[in-house]
Amino acid sequence: MRPGHDHDTGAPLLPLDEARSRAMSRIDRLPPTELALAEAHGCVAAEDVLAPIELPPFSSSAMDGYAVRAADVAGAAPDRPAALRPVGAVQMGSPSELEVGGGEAVAVPTGGVVPPGADAVVPVEQTIREADRVLVLAPVPPGRYVRRAGQDVRAGDVMVPAGKRLLAADLGLLASAGLGSVRAIPRARVGILSTGDELVEPGAPLGPGLVPDANALTLHGCVLEAGAVPVPLGRVPDDGAALARVLTEAEGVDVLVSSGGVSVGERDPVKAAFGSGGEVDFVEVAMQPGKPQAFGTLGGRPYFGLPGNPVSVFVSFEVFVRPAVLSMMGRGDARTEVRATLDADVTGPEEKVQFARVRLHRSNGGLVASPTGPRGSNLLATMARADGLAVIPVGVATAEAGTPVRVILVRDQP
Ligand code: AMP
Ligand code: MG
Repeated sequence: MRPGHDHDTGAPLLPLDEARSRAMSRIDRLPPTELALAEAHGCVAAEDVLAPIELPPFSSSAMDGYAVRAADVAGAAPDRPAALRPVGAVQMGSPSELEVGGGEAVAVPTGGVVPPGADAVVPVEQTIREADRVLVLAPVPPGRYVRRAGQDVRAGDVMVPAGKRLLAADLGLLASAGLGSVRAIPRARVGILSTGDELVEPGAPLGPGLVPDANALTLHGCVLEAGAVPVPLGRVPDDGAALARVLTEAEGVDVLVSSGGVSVGERDPVKAAFGSGGEVDFVEVAMQPGKPQAFGTLGGRPYFGLPGNPVSVFVSFEVFVRPAVLSMMGRGDARTEVRATLDADVTGPEEKVQFARVRLHRSNGGLVASPTGPRGSNLLATMARADGLAVIPVGVATAEAGTPVRVILVRDQP
């Protein structure tokens, strides 16, 4: 057998990295848009977001107590309290008209504005309130219990740098600074189409030879887990014209994904639709599962024609579509990978990278990878049970029990 060729068919195989870069070469980042903060969660900031104001925006009290001049209470002690004149109280949410003069105290709640003139807050627990005076039982140094304006962020500071993924605390920070929206890369809208005469809607009655359209749901989940928006495009029979129509006419999508019908069978609709040259490349990738793939551009939108077997769909999305969709959304983050030791042999075609479904568990401080079952690419339960994909490189026919492997974790959530 010639290296770089399929051992069963003799067909030349495209190395995985080359296939990936060919697919990625068609991918552009989506144009940024102004997104409401809630909508922007998980999206990438398109530009540096500068603070329009300082944060905190005003000096506030960290305690329920009295705003005072620290110098007035410097010598205070329980047997020698400092007596101050109460001159009012600060209300939450309204700026104070009050000023604290020498010998005066203004009641202030936690979070209330510390009035001008005061430089410290005495906690209420260290005071005794009498009708016309406040007795302070302990000294406070200047600045104590005052949350100083501008301590966190100064006006003009970068709160979120361009390229940062906006997560919970980022959104809260932007809101604190009085912003309601942010310029960010939107989520990619991913059109999902299934092909096959045998397919029926999941939940519909089954009959001999009929197959519920599982791939649409697998892909729906994959798209959500990538932080993108699934757009179901339904099913087409094995009819190239119908497939071409749905894919080219789909509206409101940034990228298209179909499953099934990319093999050489004469009824395979992707070949029938786009096989005669043009904008779609048909490749046989040196990977298992997921060998036949189609990459293209349809009406200016990237298109991925994935094979139909349910495990191939999951693995192909992971390997090709997920990085593309993340890149469209300005994200360069990759899946977490771990090193683990196989606890059973994994055998497969040595001319291909094998993605073996494994469960992980910890043992003696290390990670152990257990294959979840046989490697048939129709066996979706073996994927559902898996925590990750162990990568068995080209040139290895059998990775024996005890071999260290790289495992891509496929279950982490956005
Ligand atoms: P294909 O790539 O179209 O030759 O399909 C390969 C295998 O995957 C066949 O057994 C199909 O029935 C199955 N298959 C294709 N599409 C789907 C789908 N959407 N859901 C479940 N199985 C599918
Ligand atoms: Mg088919």
